[in-house]
Amino acid sequence: MLKTEHCYNSDMADVVIVGGGVIGLTTAYFLAREGAKVAILDKGDFGQESSWAGAGILPPAGVGAARNAYEHFRDCSARMFPLLSQELRELTGVDNGYLRSGGLESVQGNADDEWHAATERLQVLDEAASRKLEPGINAGLGKMIFLGDMAQVRNPRHLRALTAACGSLGVELRAGEPVYDFVRKGNKIDAVRTSSATMTAGEFLVAGGAWSDELLERVGVRLGIVPIRGQIALLSLPAPVFRRILLHGRQYLVPRPDGLILVGSTEELTGFRKHTTTEAIGELLALAQRLVPSLNDAHLQRCWAGLRPGSPDGLPFLGTVPGYDNFHVAAGHFRSGIFLSPATGTVMKELILGQKLSVPLEAFALDRRVKRG
Ligand SMILES: Cc1cc2nc3c(=O)[nH]c(=O)nc-3n(C[C@H](O)[C@H](O)[C@H](O)COP(=O)(O)OP(=O)(O)OC[C@H]3O[C@@H](n4cnc5c(N)ncnc54)[C@H](O)[C@@H]3O)c2cc1C
Repeated sequence: MLKTEHCYNSDMADVVIVGGGVIGLTTAYFLAREGAKVAILDKGDFGQESSWAGAGILPPAGVGAARNAYEHFRDCSARMFPLLSQELRELTGVDNGYLRSGGLESVQGNADDEWHAATERLQVLDEAASRKLEPGINAGLGKMIFLGDMAQVRNPRHLRALTAACGSLGVELRAGEPVYDFVRKGNKIDAVRTSSATMTAGEFLVAGGAWSDELLERVGVRLGIVPIRGQIALLSLPAPVFRRILLHGRQYLVPRPDGLILVGSTEELTGFRKHTTTEAIGELLALAQRLVPSLNDAHLQRCWAGLRPGSPDGLPFLGTVPGYDNFHVAAGHFRSGIFLSPATGTVMKELILGQKLSVPLEAFALDRRVKRG
């Protein structure tokens, strides 16, 4: 199961993962499911950063053949999400709220190609048809694209399910333990250093989200991963007034079945400052009312911001750090980390265990020639 060239000490972990967001936790879960002894360390609590803050929009898979590695990767994730959700529910009793709610995307808002380039199930509806489907939306929004297979997940619940699943498979979950350095021996990492421990292992994975470059700088590597702030306003109504995710350019309204509505989001280069601003929240609230007039009356429950791990070309970095045998990275998922987490966890598990890769990783290599987006 594990790469044969490594000699494992029975006390040490086979794999140490740095970063307990959706990427680190999903990879830990898949590794542990195949019998690997995994330890995962987070500087704070598990799943409380970008992965908690996101909206949980899961774009549909394409129906036709994928045209490139990224589309293949997206399709794998879209297909895996409902199965993984069910598996986690059965193992932990936590329902992550996976729901194939469908979506409607405003053509006026310059439909965001990235979300649906791979799908062939696009149906353009005129205004009357859109309003028949969703009577709560405003007049004057014009044509909309109907995305019947678009789904959503409730991030905090998904992270709770993943953390519980890891715990039940014996993953060592070490919260409040920031990693601040790596011990190098030749072309291998031998250990990670935290304030309270030096942990050796056979394999290491950095899944530090927006903080990944800070970690990698310790070994002289810089991928160009930067924090990109996204703000969200959470509204509530006693009962839902629309059921499908509404997309307007790069902004959106995500209705939950219990009457909560997430309104997001911004893309801001503000470093590691994670606060909300009156200007951005004001704009999001104005958009919400413009798309669904009855939201004028909604209760503003709370607002938050998260730091997406932005990469220079918008694609994640997935692979082994050049010059090392046992040091890997899965980071830089920008706007799609929740969505891409099942495929990421699978392929990183395969890479770490020396298995055949289900998706080629050249397009995501750490030393790829990056075309800036
Ligand atoms: C507002 C907003 C909306 C979004 N909407 C969507 C969406 O609809 N769909 C979607 O797919 N994606 C969405 N995303 C993006 C998605 O949330 C991210 O791509 C994803 O969460 C990245 O996961 P991660 O595990 O890499 O990072 P994170 O969740 O940030 O996890 C990284 C972890 O590493 C830990 N860490 C960092 N440094 C150290 C250290 N030195 N030692 C130990 N631990 C460390 C951190 O504490 C953190 O827990 C959204 C993001 C935001 C902010």
